[in-house]
Amino acid sequence: MNNPTAATTLHKDDLIVIAGAGGFIAGALTRHFHEQGFTRIRAIDKKPLPQWYQRVPGVESLSMDLSDRDNCVRACEGAVEVYNLAADMGGMGFIERFRIECLRSILINTHMIEAAYQAGAQRYFFSSSACAYNVELQKDPDARALKESDAYPAMAERGYGWEKLMSEMFCQEYWAERRMKTAIARFHNVYGPHGTWDGGREKAPAALSRKVIEAQDSGNLEITIWGDGHQTRSFMYIDDCVQGIDMIMHCDELIATPINLGSSELISINALVSLLEDIAGVKLERHYDLDAPKGVAGRNSDNTFIQQVLGWEPNTPFRTGLEKTYAWIKDQYETRKAGLPTPAGVH
Ligand code: NAD
Repeated sequence: MNNPTAATTLHKDDLIVIAGAGGFIAGALTRHFHEQGFTRIRAIDKKPLPQWYQRVPGVESLSMDLSDRDNCVRACEGAVEVYNLAADMGGMGFIERFRIECLRSILINTHMIEAAYQAGAQRYFFSSSACAYNVELQKDPDARALKESDAYPAMAERGYGWEKLMSEMFCQEYWAERRMKTAIARFHNVYGPHGTWDGGREKAPAALSRKVIEAQDSGNLEITIWGDGHQTRSFMYIDDCVQGIDMIMHCDELIATPINLGSSELISINALVSLLEDIAGVKLERHYDLDAPKGVAGRNSDNTFIQQVLGWEPNTPFRTGLEKTYAWIKDQYETRKAGLPTPAGVH
């Protein structure tokens, strides 16, 4: 199916604004649009520029705090499209511990969507999350995949998930009341090169890759796994995520309609460790930390709706994406060991 994308609907000099561009997904999105030949991209993040995970040459890159209204007005000046991927976020270790920080991301979306509207932007994208789904439906590792209607009745992940649900509602009402075209994707775990791999915000594939590398490097062939390892997840490779964002944003059928953007290839954390052992060529003694944050028991993405509307779903096999991610983290690990900067892996 030939879905509309930025490349087929925008002029190459239309201004694209990307919030959170110093981070993982928005950094990849910035690169994607740059590679497509867009000449006016404004990338924004609150982090100082040297700490950005990727810096794309030729892109206007601004360090600004987007929880501040005036900064959002400045960020959206002249924008044709606005992508909001800025949020205070991390893996379970972060979102279970720092609920206030997660909730405060509501300020970013609240000011960004209003600023986008005032600037006359044609389309606005919001990155929601599978954490917006009712946690009661995720208590079993064999839980059925989550479909879009499972967010209500609402019982989202405390903090992070509720912020996402409220921000989704903003997007829906800006379309209903003011006719600004909004797009809402509920991402399920995203992984890949240039993602956080150390420092406390990393997610399972990156954290476990790093632990395998550390074990090999130190010669201490043991690994600590959070929880009992039976918890299940699906993981979406970054390239699929970026492609999905572009298609969802430009699909008129999906205006103001939350949609899953995730892989439907379910895997347990134990199986993920086995895959990594295979990739690394090592066997580790496993220890389980049952007191560590582990999130819901099981979560998968039901892709019926995205298949129906776009005729597509994220489809990079997990092993293929994990091999690339592992190789990248290994390279970063060695770079850091050599005393060179690695922004996505700060201790
Ligand atoms: P990330 O942490 O790598 O990137 C987020 C960026 O937002 C960071 O660089 C951070 O500095 C920036 N930011 C935070 N507060 C800001 C502020 N006040 N002003 C300006 N910038 C600010 O995270 P990511 O994985 O790239 O996630 C991007 C989006 O996707 C987030 O909204 C996240 O909630 C959502 N999401 C991600 C995943 C995933 O698996 N990575 C899953 C579900 C949803």
